[in-house]
Amino acid sequence: MAETVNSANSVNVETRVLDIVSLYPKDMNIYGDTGNVKTVEMRARLYGYEPRIHAYNVGDAWPEHVDLVLGGGGQDKGQAVISDDLFARADTIRALAADGVPMLLICGLYQLFGEYFETHEGERLPGINVLGVHTVGQDTRMIGNLVEQTEECGAIVGYENHSGQTIVHDDGTVAWGRVEAEGTGNNGSDLTEGARKYNVIGTYMHGSVLPKNPQLADYLIRCAAEHRYGSFEASSTAEQTAQLEKLNALAAAAFGVASSRPR
Ligand code: GLN
Repeated sequence: MAETVNSANSVNVETRVLDIVSLYPKDMNIYGDTGNVKTVEMRARLYGYEPRIHAYNVGDAWPEHVDLVLGGGGQDKGQAVISDDLFARADTIRALAADGVPMLLICGLYQLFGEYFETHEGERLPGINVLGVHTVGQDTRMIGNLVEQTEECGAIVGYENHSGQTIVHDDGTVAWGRVEAEGTGNNGSDLTEGARKYNVIGTYMHGSVLPKNPQLADYLIRCAAEHRYGSFEASSTAEQTAQLEKLNALAAAAFGVASSRPR
């Protein structure tokens, strides 16, 4: 239910809060992944919602209410730093995922939401098994812009930089996208990119991905609102609609440039 608060003139203003967890921003945030949080925050507000961002780092208290989880990538050593804490939160995160809470995990956290990530030196970090994938590091890194086609959000452009090759191994988990152009995606051999189960999307798309692909940001906001309020209802003013259109035009231009430079 939406909350009703009294403003200074005691006019009832309906605030529709969305509680958004930014997962491990201190250790898992490279290639601008924090831009994803900023994009969702800005767009949710422009649709008339009240986003509350909860930065969750190692050792923090877990927020009481969660409507959306956003997590970024990190170096192998960043993944090792957060691994124990993530494990301690695994049951909570798995329950939220099964309940339909949308989540977007980029690269390093995508790998740790799978069964395991084995570094190219052979160290195995166990994952929390939300997604039925596993990842093994290689000597060669997969680097560059790539375009993929997804069922929910059409064409997505992003920037990948990873050594891990990921295999989707579980029937309940599907590949999220199909690689177009010259990108490598999950592993460079089966043209899959990312994985999805429930409303949880794991992907190698840095960029940041959401400013360049606002339809994905809107998809996550819609899922978050539906999860909390039963439906998504935009209540943008004319000015907010104009701002959204401006952001969409900028995103389309960025999409054009990034997708014309695949490698
Ligand atoms: N360390 C992981 C890899 O190289 C993740 C990298 C990342 O998040 N960009 O596969």
